[in-house]
Amino acid sequence: MPLIVWRESADPDAYETARTSRLFNGVIPRRYPVAIAFAKSEQDIVDAVKTAIQKNHRISIRAGGHSYAAWSLRSDALLLDLGQYVEMDLDENSGIVRASPGVTGGQLNAYLSTRGRAFPVGHCPDVALGGFLLGGGMGWNTNNWGWACESIVAIDLVTASGELIKADAHNNTDLFWAARGGGPAFPGVVTRFHLQTQPAPEVIRSSVYVYPAEHYSDAFNWIIKIASSVDQLVEITVVGSYKEEVQDTCLTIILLAFGDDEDAMVGILQKVDQSHPAGSLSRSFSEETSLHRELGNKYKAYPIGHRYKVDNVFLNNDADVAELLRPAFTTLPTRKSLALWSSMRPRSTRALTDMALSIQSDHYFALYVIWENEADDLENGAWLAGVMNEVKRQAAGAYLGEQDFQAREARLWGSQQYERLVGIKRKWDPSHRICGCLGLEELD
Ligand SMILES: Cc1cc2nc3c(=O)[nH]c(=O)nc-3n(C[C@H](O)[C@H](O)[C@H](O)COP(=O)(O)OP(=O)(O)OC[C@H]3O[C@@H](n4cnc5c(N)ncnc54)[C@H](O)[C@@H]3O)c2cc1C
Repeated sequence: MPLIVWRESADPDAYETARTSRLFNGVIPRRYPVAIAFAKSEQDIVDAVKTAIQKNHRISIRAGGHSYAAWSLRSDALLLDLGQYVEMDLDENSGIVRASPGVTGGQLNAYLSTRGRAFPVGHCPDVALGGFLLGGGMGWNTNNWGWACESIVAIDLVTASGELIKADAHNNTDLFWAARGGGPAFPGVVTRFHLQTQPAPEVIRSSVYVYPAEHYSDAFNWIIKIASSVDQLVEITVVGSYKEEVQDTCLTIILLAFGDDEDAMVGILQKVDQSHPAGSLSRSFSEETSLHRELGNKYKAYPIGHRYKVDNVFLNNDADVAELLRPAFTTLPTRKSLALWSSMRPRSTRALTDMALSIQSDHYFALYVIWENEADDLENGAWLAGVMNEVKRQAAGAYLGEQDFQAREARLWGSQQYERLVGIKRKWDPSHRICGCLGLEELD
């Protein structure tokens, strides 16, 4: 039986620590679970679900605590915390790794890299597999390795009625379908993911160009054009942020090349380099790097415990991206905030697997307002809403992993996939035991 901290009997400080433990966003909602259960094993999860059923409480789940909207915090539910249940086990023959949902991307990458294997883990090392994979999982090199959830070959789960079962391409296929992009609408508690890994790339090289605001259009339009034609082994992102000793925002263009042929990698980056516009503040060309190092860079860029307001869209393929995103990239309200554009090609040019995840386009855009004082909440929230009001006019939809369903309505699934998800949730969780998408009535 897991340790359970009950609100009515626990010391208030101990309860508050348990309630807020491992929440990434420093904006912590005033939602108070009836109890927090700390699972250390699969059996603990089964026992916690049965306790909730017996006492007629809903169940919410926290794997890594990185949902920006703190979905795991639900009033009067039993919050099942999976952070102490960390297990990984690679089958060297099949390349399938079995991992518990509390395992973080950083932990999985460290485990696999010593065994010559790789997986498209999330860009920040502390994001856990639970929320990341259920949401779809836009990991490192997603454009070439695919959405992370496309590498799920099976899941083990506890149903809303407390039964431990498996779902894969042959068993409980509707749950297997929902686990790949259903996010919090998934009507059960995943206890283990079975993931197909792949050989670790021999080479990862990066080129980075930083441009000042006055070269915004030249630089952004250059890289968008490159993204539509460059070799598929390269992942391209553009980050808008403030740099030390530069007053205005800068544009950082990052190309990461993954592969096994060093000469080919350098050749691809060289071709890009030859066309880069003049005016960069700095340029680094074809430097050797590793996923471990890139995860470390992201860790620094997204500080834990700060206050975050976040939104995202997949933009229409024909949008004038640089012009549309100019206010987002050039008027960030705090010096820690970030704007991010990521090319989704060539993944976006290939049909999606049949799964709940059903929205993608060539352009992913996300906006992260980051600050420290509660007194600035309203102003920063209003800035983000104002910018997104314009941007969303060109949206094909949004990625649920970085959405707050209560803050803005967005198209998160195709209409058929949405209907199917609602049906699966009703079938497997008729008594609404598992807390779902906070803010989406039919899927909550
Ligand atoms: C700094 C940062 C960087 C990020 N980078 C990326 C990125 O590169 N790519 C990307 O795709 N996303 C990224 N995200 C978004 C992230 O994937 C989602 O917020 C995801 O939900 C976080 O997963 P978690 O388990 O850490 O969060 P949690 O808040 O613990 O979980 C979120 C929800 O997922 C569901 N859930 C989790 N585990 C289970 C389970 N075992 N069974 C059933 N339901 C479960 C529950 O509804 C839970 O409330 C990032 C987020 C942050 C804060």
